Amino acid sequence: MNETRMNDDEILAAFKNTDAIRKGHFKLTSGRHSDTYIQCARVLEHPNLTMKLATEATRRISSRIDIDLVASPAVGGILFGFAVAAAIDKPFIFSERVDGKMTFRRSFEVAQGANVLIAEDVVTTGGSVVDVCELVRANGGNVVAIVSLIDRGAEPTFGAPYYPLLKLQTPSWEEAECDLCKQGIEIYSPGSRRINK
Ligand SMILES: [Zn+2]
Repeated sequence: MNETRMNDDEILAAFKNTDAIRKGHFKLTSGRHSDTYIQCARVLEHPNLTMKLATEATRRISSRIDIDLVASPAVGGILFGFAVAAAIDKPFIFSERVDGKMTFRRSFEVAQGANVLIAEDVVTTGGSVVDVCELVRANGGNVVAIVSLIDRGAEPTFGAPYYPLLKLQTPSWEEAECDLCKQGIEIYSPGSRRINK
């Protein structure tokens, strides 16, 4: 077994150790309260760890699948997608939204019939990944698989096999129903101010 393999406990530890997954009392951008906060960018601050996670993600894909190209939606998917592409030594491109429409800019191209692996950081509803899949197909490519760091559990349908490294369904609730508030535990809004250790 190759030394870069990671088991599920090691993957979860990687997120927790880098504060990409935090436990506490949080006000999410939706306004709902939760005991868990996810910020994937924190794990991606660490290039070697990101490479390790990317390598593990590619090992979960069937070896029978040939991949010509890796594509990710900007901005969140770019770092992980780049690492995934590096792990399998394939080219990498990313898509961007222009006036809300997913598109390939920067002269990025998908060769006719190319087998494309889609890589994303966090899949919540899966909307961006669905849009990249459609974009790749519209450009004549085949979406052969999707990988992500975290799947938030929406069970999206992509029309290709999906391999998340970590499945994580986190509960959230309205402030009025928040036991953590009732216990008087200090709340943090991660998007608007720094979280204290
Ligand atoms: Zn609360």
